[in-house]
Amino acid sequence: MGENTAAEPDWMGPVRALVGKEYGQVLSWDPVNAPMIRQWCEVMGVANPAYTDPASPQAMARGALVAPATMLQVWCMEGLKTNHYPPGSTAENPYEVLQLLEAQGFTSVVAVNSELSFERELREGERIHYLSRLDAVGPQKTTGLGTGFFVTLVMRYFSQQPSGPEKVGELLFRVFKFKPTTAAILTPATAHAAVPAPQPRRAAPGVSDDTRFFWDGVRQGKLLIQRCRACAQLRHPPGPVCSSCHSFDWDTLTACGFGTVYSFVVMHYPEVAPFEHPNLIGLIELDEGTRLVAQLVRLGREQVAIGQRVKVEFNRFDGDLMLPQFALASD
Ligand code: ZN
Repeated sequence: MGENTAAEPDWMGPVRALVGKEYGQVLSWDPVNAPMIRQWCEVMGVANPAYTDPASPQAMARGALVAPATMLQVWCMEGLKTNHYPPGSTAENPYEVLQLLEAQGFTSVVAVNSELSFERELREGERIHYLSRLDAVGPQKTTGLGTGFFVTLVMRYFSQQPSGPEKVGELLFRVFKFKPTTAAILTPATAHAAVPAPQPRRAAPGVSDDTRFFWDGVRQGKLLIQRCRACAQLRHPPGPVCSSCHSFDWDTLTACGFGTVYSFVVMHYPEVAPFEHPNLIGLIELDEGTRLVAQLVRLGREQVAIGQRVKVEFNRFDGDLMLPQFALASD
């Protein structure tokens, strides 16, 4: 670490002075508990009953519900408010080094390493805290993202036992704290200007047995609306059964192609190829009464308004993809 620090600016002095610093304990807001475990498992798609079913053989063998080892970091998270720790936690900010770098313009951050190690499983009811150490601040580096510093923190996690804190795991966390270069802010447009690349294709619609008639119609330049044969109710998006009379019997009606903008959104960001931005997407109410989502084309943001009259047109993309789009009815 020391070899490249000789020529560093004065403001790096206080940054270097923090390296090796140990910070006081950060407590968990809640003990290891079944609701958080269950929700975490649900979100992560983890199905091991050792974590969620106290009556399962897996949990019985352990004598308690246990938390997935990879949840370790979760127990001491601060929540939505930054640096908001439970009473009894250190008043110092274990991430103060990042603030010092931010003050010098290194405003962006990207996580680069997360190495978690475990001593044992955590049981329901255990209270966790961690101690952190600023392990390293590397020499200034320039990467594809920009110029900045690799900052490594090590957190040691403990369970509060009657006999004292018992170490249960450790997390090494490394981030790159950097000043973004202009080149790092690659939009699809600038990325293509810099590197000639094949134009991304449009995502084709997912076609199912229920929707095939609609896309077949589009290929023939027709906007088909599903119609219940029993009660004549129109429906879109297509489905197998009439929501009104529950009949499975249906045919189609060819829409006249005119409608009004029922609602719309203007997609500004992120800019996703191959779309042009701002990207106008309308919820169109057809004159027949059903609504569908479609891109609005050949008109500007200032021309779109709720109630605007529009008409369908069928446009071809990527060789064989036909899509219904809507333009001003007066075009
Ligand atoms: Zn019906």
